[in-house]
Amino acid sequence: MNSAIYDIIVIGGGINGAGIAADAAGRNLSVYLCEQDDFAAATSSASSKLIHGGLRYLEHGQFRLVHEALKEREVLLGNASHLIKPLRFTLPHRPHLRPSWMIRLGLFLYDRLGKRETLAPSRRVLFDEHSPLKASIRQGFEYADCTVDDARLVICNLLAAKERGASLHKQTRCIQAKQVHGLWRCIMQETDSGRRHEVSAKALVNAAGPWVADFIKQQAQSHSPYAIRLIKGSHIVVPRLYDQEHAFILQNADKRVVFVIPYLDHFSLIGTTDVEYTGKPGRVTISAAETKYLLAVSNDYFKQQRTAEDIVWRFSGIRPLCDDESDNPAAITRDYTLTLDESAGAPLLSVFGGKITTYRRLAETALAKLRPYFSHMTNSWTRSTPLPGGDFPQGKAHFRQRLGEDFPYLADSLLRRYVDAYGTRCRLFLEDVNAIQDMGQHFGHQLYAAEVDYLVKYEWVNNVDDLLWRRSKLGLFMNAKQTQALQVYLTEQQKKQPS
Ligand SMILES: Cc1cc2nc3c(=O)[nH]c(=O)nc-3n(C[C@H](O)[C@H](O)[C@H](O)COP(=O)(O)OP(=O)(O)OC[C@H]3O[C@@H](n4cnc5c(N)ncnc54)[C@H](O)[C@@H]3O)c2cc1C
Repeated sequence: MNSAIYDIIVIGGGINGAGIAADAAGRNLSVYLCEQDDFAAATSSASSKLIHGGLRYLEHGQFRLVHEALKEREVLLGNASHLIKPLRFTLPHRPHLRPSWMIRLGLFLYDRLGKRETLAPSRRVLFDEHSPLKASIRQGFEYADCTVDDARLVICNLLAAKERGASLHKQTRCIQAKQVHGLWRCIMQETDSGRRHEVSAKALVNAAGPWVADFIKQQAQSHSPYAIRLIKGSHIVVPRLYDQEHAFILQNADKRVVFVIPYLDHFSLIGTTDVEYTGKPGRVTISAAETKYLLAVSNDYFKQQRTAEDIVWRFSGIRPLCDDESDNPAAITRDYTLTLDESAGAPLLSVFGGKITTYRRLAETALAKLRPYFSHMTNSWTRSTPLPGGDFPQGKAHFRQRLGEDFPYLADSLLRRYVDAYGTRCRLFLEDVNAIQDMGQHFGHQLYAAEVDYLVKYEWVNNVDDLLWRRSKLGLFMNAKQTQALQVYLTEQQKKQPS
């Protein structure tokens, strides 16, 4: 029994739940958030990792979404420059797929629809013999967008929420939500132990992503105002296809586009697909047909050919999209809809759809809807406040240089990884380090105990998957023996944690 009555309970520790929890906690509201799995375990760690307006959405007339997303791109770039980086995209021109005038018009709008302060405008480009593309592809276009570490963006929002007093619980599933005397009374069940506790709140926020409609029906025993379309999207990661730093956006004959993005120095990330999914939401995997499709698009454009044997990692996620009755999964709106059900007394706010890029605006809109219930709610604050680790008063480059001077015995590549992942917060685990020996046990690939301990203490890491695939992507480099040594260490660390 948890006797406290919170202002809001948030269901779901993906980007939308985390963003709403952070925003609400910073506005003087008491917040309880539960996540049935690890934080960011579902859709929010399986995206294409872009903070973008979505050039292709223009074709579907999604001007509101593109406008808002492009504006957010600049805001997020300012607030989380450790996690978000500008990236140039090259769009090879294939006249039989889309005429040049159409692409020019799209890029003209893309350059102007949002506020573009730091990113360069689009331009036409010609490819010479150094191009990684096949010789028949001679020209194209280039434009700016950004890339993000999606799972870490979730963690940063949770850290922001925690700093402001939110109570955050992973491996905790809300199994029932009932209205009792004008309050939401929720039963939470811990995934590992099965232990249950009850939590009450004045408002309930359903940010359960692909589970949003199920939650309304099963846990809240109500009717979902919208149908949700579950559209699976998959990615493959292969050894790097080319040396240049920019990404490619490849048009395919089916009118879809596929991104090829430089990934973690050594790899190229290729995705995504759009496949209608009718099963229960949960962990999903790429099919043989999706793998074949992604390889075929890449091989159609690049001199370097890749086969299924080259794939080093593959991942899939489910887009929880608001059903607009489109026949084509790729054309269903990526915009979000928030519904507020006040019929039973205490409000239930549900999140349908949305992009990682627009999570902050989505959170602001959610809180605007809840404002009438909370007279003590203060004003919005997230636009101009850096996310934890993103506070670089003298710029990120200056911070990195100072770090290099302070820790000359740590490899440049390691410091770069720390700054990109943790920003200024890396000083928390480097505080007492005066020599490489102070970093503690080395697990391989420059993963030291100092970082692991920090992740356990501050970032809710319980097991190797949390650490190797969501807080970092070191899973791409570690072998089975190293992973096992890490698991042994983590188990020991867990025992030392207060229960
Ligand atoms: C293939 C693909 C590519 C994408 N690419 C991009 C991109 O490049 N850029 C971009 O901006 N967006 C992109 N998106 C969209 C973006 O990833 C999603 O919109 C976003 O992650 C959704 O976040 P969410 O918090 O709503 O859902 P989720 O991340 O799925 O979080 C919902 C959480 O709720 C939890 N939950 C559910 N029920 C319960 C319960 N009863 N109790 C407790 N917890 C519960 C789940 O475990 C889950 O972790 C992409 C999506 C996909 C699938």
